[in-house]
Amino acid sequence: MFDYLIVGAGFAGSVIAERLARGCNKKVLIVDRRNHIGGNAYDCFDDYGVLIHKYGPHIFHTACKEVFGYLSRFTDWRQYQHKVLASVDGQLVPIPINLDTINRLYGLNLDSFQLDKWFESRAEKKEVCKTSEDVVVNKVGRELYEKFFRGYTRKQWGLDPSELDAQVTARVPTRTNRDDRYFTDAYQAMPKQGFTRMFEKMLDHPNIKVMLNCDYRDVKEWAPHNELIFTGCVDEYFGFRHGKLPYRCLEFKHETINKEWVQPVAVINYPNDYAYTRVTEFKHLTGQEHPKTSVVYEFSCAEGDPYYPIPRTENAELYRKYTALAERTSNVHFVGRLATYKYYNMDQVVAQALTTFAKIVGKTRQEALELKTEPRITRIHVPMNAELIPLNGNGNGNGHHENGSISNGNGYSKRRGRASAAEVLGMNGNGHSHRNRKNGNGNGTADRNSLVNDGKDKSASRE
Ligand code: FAD
Ligand code: UDP
Repeated sequence: MFDYLIVGAGFAGSVIAERLARGCNKKVLIVDRRNHIGGNAYDCFDDYGVLIHKYGPHIFHTACKEVFGYLSRFTDWRQYQHKVLASVDGQLVPIPINLDTINRLYGLNLDSFQLDKWFESRAEKKEVCKTSEDVVVNKVGRELYEKFFRGYTRKQWGLDPSELDAQVTARVPTRTNRDDRYFTDAYQAMPKQGFTRMFEKMLDHPNIKVMLNCDYRDVKEWAPHNELIFTGCVDEYFGFRHGKLPYRCLEFKHETINKEWVQPVAVINYPNDYAYTRVTEFKHLTGQEHPKTSVVYEFSCAEGDPYYPIPRTENAELYRKYTALAERTSNVHFVGRLATYKYYNMDQVVAQALTTFAKIVGKTRQEALELKTEPRITRIHVPMNAELIPLNGNGNGNGHHENGSISNGNGYSKRRGRASAAEVLGMNGNGHSHRNRKNGNGNGTADRNSLVNDGKDKSASRE
């Protein structure tokens, strides 16, 4: 019997799994329908040995010391300040728009004070900035809005900025100084050995079993558990009972080029040209030295795997109906970007997961962060003909088979003491052989049918 079944091995699921196991000695099964852990933050080496982010560029930044401190338990960091250029009017200029952007684009020589006035003279002042169009034209006027934001947003969201909540374009500030960093958070860094390595360390605990290529639907009946943490799409969990929540989808075109570098910075945005929104060159992010370089082109689309909740009023209303269902569903916690339908960055998801964990254990977040227990001593089932080699250190490995054969083959070894973290977590690309592999398609595109059939949805029985 598992104390917790966790659906999704991204930040939301992995943080809670780690805390439950290491903090409270709970037994956890974490499943993901993809063939890897890490969710959208997953990184891996491509065929040429260049470290890439499979699902587009992920740059870690946070103002929250607690979150940074927590993740630092599982990784060292490489300092990295993210820079982005936008291709506008035949030039590559800094975005967020700053003093250099304007001086270069308009052939001016303004100082910060003059630029402030310049923006003021162009801004269309709004009483209230309700939409993503309002936010930009209110600050810098229509011309810059059209050069930098209108086309990009239409490509990215399939909607005009006037149809999107203000929070979308409000993510990108406007500056009158020469600061060309994309983010200004106190903590900006990339995991030194990549995100996946960090996730491996997070999940490397004897109380945590990981099953990949495994959809929630395939395990919910035969993996008994007391509580569920769900980090997939909330509308999918409830069988789309109130209709589909729109999520924006992406397609990624990865390419390796036989040159050391192709871009001056990690990301170039294309607001007005091409079908893609931006191109990322990974080595800027990772610091890897390599004679070749790998890039990814991002294309937004309406159908496919869900990546972005779409912030607009009608979607928030629909989501509220699902929140009401979620609140009436006992023993299930909804966490993360898809499950809470929030356009959250990684650090916000980590914070949300830590808060959920704190609530589960009835502690403050600080107390919850400090919780630490020794792993339970589990009995190792040894086949009669096993050739035993003493286990190093952590004696209980992952080999304790419970409930039939759920353990992911990472258990006791006849030949050596302990499987590597990579093997434990199936990071060697061979997935796992489980009886429930059949529905895993490795890319999260399984049919979005109802996931509710576990007798835990009190509201279902009331309706
Ligand atoms: P996810 O990472 O989506 O993980 C959810 C997991 O659940 C997935 O692996 C999925 O396969 C699995 N799952 C879903 N349903 C099921 C099911 N039924 N059964 C089994 N498994 C299931 N944030 C930043 O801070 N900085 C950035 O630079 C940044 N860049 C981004 C770029 C892109 C292109 C995107 C899309 C996002 C970016 N983000 C960035 C946001 C970041 O990806 C998220 O905040 C974070 O990864 C969300 O973690 P999560 O665990 O909530 O969700
Ligand atoms: N945006 C834009 N032009 C840009 C950069 C951003 O119009 O050059 C808008 C666009 O709507 C985008 C939003 O601002 O979706 C937020 O940008 P961010 O870089 O934070 O997007 P993300 O990294 O989350 O895709």
